[in-house]
Amino acid sequence: MKEMNFASPDMTYVGLAEPGRQAAELGNTGFMTGKADEKCDIKSCTLEELTEEVISFGEKPFRAKQLYQWMHQKLARSYDEMTNLPKAFRETLREHCEYTSLLPVERRVSKIDGTEKYLFCLNDGNVIESVLMRYHFGNSVCISSQVGCRMGCRFCASTIGGLTRNLTPSEMLDQVYCIQRMTGERVSHLVVMGTGEPLDNYDNLLRFLQLLSDENGLHISQRNITVSTCGLVENIRRLAEERLQITLALSLHASSQEKRKELMPVAYRYELDDVLDACRYYFEQTGRRMTFEYSLVGGVNDTQADAGQLTGLLKGMNCHINLIPVNPIREREFVQPDRRVMEAFKNKLEKYGINVTIRREMGRDIAGACGQLRKGYLSRTKDSAGEDPNGCT
Ligand code: SAH
Repeated sequence: MKEMNFASPDMTYVGLAEPGRQAAELGNTGFMTGKADEKCDIKSCTLEELTEEVISFGEKPFRAKQLYQWMHQKLARSYDEMTNLPKAFRETLREHCEYTSLLPVERRVSKIDGTEKYLFCLNDGNVIESVLMRYHFGNSVCISSQVGCRMGCRFCASTIGGLTRNLTPSEMLDQVYCIQRMTGERVSHLVVMGTGEPLDNYDNLLRFLQLLSDENGLHISQRNITVSTCGLVENIRRLAEERLQITLALSLHASSQEKRKELMPVAYRYELDDVLDACRYYFEQTGRRMTFEYSLVGGVNDTQADAGQLTGLLKGMNCHINLIPVNPIREREFVQPDRRVMEAFKNKLEKYGINVTIRREMGRDIAGACGQLRKGYLSRTKDSAGEDPNGCT
């Protein structure tokens, strides 16, 4: 669906799929397609669905809970590890159900702050990137929600090749599971801020969040989960009505509609006022304070006038602003403002009583901006073997 990408070379807006049409248009979107010849994606099933499935195989319902715990608590890599399940049952599962298990292909550990970046190969050969960040409050994982992205933000490396496909709930979960297994350390926090636009993969995202916070799984508190969006208005409103306790982060990056259009093609689809209304609605429905992300780009959106306009926009909102020094990518000319300019921007916001932090860069020594590690890997493998640019096979 190349024509669906915001990331098309001339950056013209060409439209978003209706939520209900995504599955058909993007392919490989659903975790269970309902097609008779396709296997069920077992790690994306809820306990209730699993119970039905297990009964349909002629097994006792309690086997479902055992199976669920093997997948979501003991983090089994395959059916073979599930030693308290009868062998014949495991054979049936192998025959009828697909078991998502990501293959780590690269792991880089920062010598500066212990941040780790991972590249994982999916069952179909696509490659995705995830990050582990170590904080005083616990370990936080940043996951990808799509292979590539079609939102086209000008400063973002993840969007350059457009969107390949959505990730299934199990593929989102397994990024967390692999990292917890590989480090042997509990993951307590999660951010959906890697490659992809999570609200462009709404149904799978929602199921992923439910499974991740489920008490029979890793049971990560919803309050420790942040989902970042470039601002798909209808789906922000839908998410608000789910009344989850997760934090929503909105990628703002500009203080006017016109300037936002220069940086984010999605602004051709949604007016800034409508995006901010949806954010207010999110707060009303959930009681969760909004986070706004604002990437500071030298000479583009970093002036005192920009800061002033921003305070006007967010007046009266219960929110927090994360200022992110733009992470320069090879393909674009964007640069970080001077430290002094960033401090002045922050001070101006603080003067108006806005909560603001300048985000600390994590893992500076192990490949820069979001999506850069994956891009580097893909061009290396492509150069050496002339293979599929989206894959590791
Ligand atoms: N699609 C989602 C989440 C993915 S990106 C979104 O747009 O929010 C997570 C955050 O990193 C977003 O705020 C995004 O705009 C920002 N980002 C991406 N590339 C960046 C770069 N090179 N420098 C600074 N911030 C970047």
